[in-house]
Amino acid sequence: MQIDIKNSAGNLTSNQLKYLLNLKQTAELKELFKTAYQLRINNLDREIYLRGIIEFSNICSKDCYYCGIRKSNQKINRFKMSKTEILESAGWIYKNNYASIVLQSGERNDPEFINFVNDLIKEIKNLSNNKLGITLSLGEQDKKTYQKWFELGAHRYLLRIESSNQKLYENIHPVSHSFKKRLNCLNILREIGYQVGTGVMIGLPGQTIEDLANDLLFFKEIDVDMVGMGPYVIHKQTPLAKKIVDEKILKVRNFDLALKMIAALRILIPDINIAATTALDALSPDGKKRGLKAGANIIMPVITHPNYRKDYQLYENKELIGVSAADEFKKFDLSKELNAKIGYNKWGDSPHYFKRNSN
Ligand code: SAM
Ligand code: SF4
Repeated sequence: MQIDIKNSAGNLTSNQLKYLLNLKQTAELKELFKTAYQLRINNLDREIYLRGIIEFSNICSKDCYYCGIRKSNQKINRFKMSKTEILESAGWIYKNNYASIVLQSGERNDPEFINFVNDLIKEIKNLSNNKLGITLSLGEQDKKTYQKWFELGAHRYLLRIESSNQKLYENIHPVSHSFKKRLNCLNILREIGYQVGTGVMIGLPGQTIEDLANDLLFFKEIDVDMVGMGPYVIHKQTPLAKKIVDEKILKVRNFDLALKMIAALRILIPDINIAATTALDALSPDGKKRGLKAGANIIMPVITHPNYRKDYQLYENKELIGVSAADEFKKFDLSKELNAKIGYNKWGDSPHYFKRNSN
């Protein structure tokens, strides 16, 4: 290895990041993943935290070129879970000691939607005696809405920048979608006091290794508390899929790159929360496990009701079967294979967040 990665924690240059993302030799990759995994243990102990995610509606007002539930895709059934169904799922998450819930959906900015989310936050807080931590992933909203949701009790927000390269961002979105607006939303969320999570898709058509290295430096620059990034996965009913020449090569490349991105990020910012995302499992049956082995420390089991899952297909091969934490960990023995355990009943905020707030 040309870089002394063991002594590079918190401090990697763009060239060093590019070097890590270009690694191909098995021995070097092993060393990269081992170092990242050890840094996770040193900085965040052995616990893996759970976030039960409910994808409660696929109705979306936006038209991102990569996403299966984009507004223009007329081949899917649009759904919205009822409040009762969502609260039932939230109750399940609470009773199963996950401590943390993520509410995700297509983006809507109309008052009916905003009020619906207001009620959900209030009722989830009620049903759990204020104990369930609430993360939102509901896209771009105005400051008033973000503020209201924060006051009602949501404390984390996930909004991926998708790519920190503005030009690339513009290539994968219609002109009506603004990179600057998305960036501004991240600033507003931080100002309000949310723990802010962002992320990118890895292996987009036209994306270079330099872009990915810059994405990692972008996370450091905006001082994120958590990152959820995953491989770009094709959805055939989207415009971006038409740009893919060889689907097989793309899948292998994107999966490998995603693992290297996780490991490089763990070395660059050792004390943040990094999710092993669902998209990893879409490309490899043991995708999430390998994400955890590469330095991730968060798992987001999908708790969306099985009846709705087939209609929340952002990309192909997104899990259709019922997945709970128990199902996730049936695939492997957390303590034996990863020397880790689940942090039940804990919000699992990152040490990075606490350090920033004690300064
Ligand atoms: N609508 C909200 C938003 O866009 O922020 C939240 C839901 S959206 C479905 C969540 C994430 O799914 C996006 O940020 C995007 O990165 C990811 N996504 C969508 N299509 C994808 C694809 N084809 N491959 C991988 N990730 C995808
Ligand atoms: Fe809508 Fe989010 Fe999909 Fe874009 S990524 S089309 S905003 S659900």
